Amino acid sequence: MPSYDYRCNDCKRRVVLTYKTYAEYDQAVPTCPRCKGTNLTRLISGVAIAKSEESRFASLDDDTALDDLADADPATLGRYMRRMSQEMGEDLGDEFNEVVGRLERGENPEDIEASMPELGASEGGADAGDDFM
Ligand SMILES: [Zn+2]
Repeated sequence: MPSYDYRCNDCKRRVVLTYKTYAEYDQAVPTCPRCKGTNLTRLISGVAIAKSEESRFASLDDDTALDDLADADPATLGRYMRRMSQEMGEDLGDEFNEVVGRLERGENPEDIEASMPELGASEGGADAGDDFM
């Protein structure tokens, strides 16, 4: 049976409400068993908070990294790509290293791509792209 912790804002007590089913919980208006007040605040258990915070921060980090990259200057992008490849412990090939090197020197990513037409088409390039996601 699902049970939930609440804090009653009327009598300032912590109360536990137990429901027979989750459907009942969905429909029920939480009511304080002591003062019959309905001004209850749901308390989330410590474990639930830790978990949700963790995943929230994890996804936040991902979003931030991607946002940063979208606005990043080529040198920052190059350093990021080099760091990624080092963290993966993989040699992504001469093309990758050349692109990173040129990015780090501040070259425009679109110019680099244009000068290396085989970059996006090659299978190695596509695999590297997948790994970054
Ligand atoms: Zn109460």
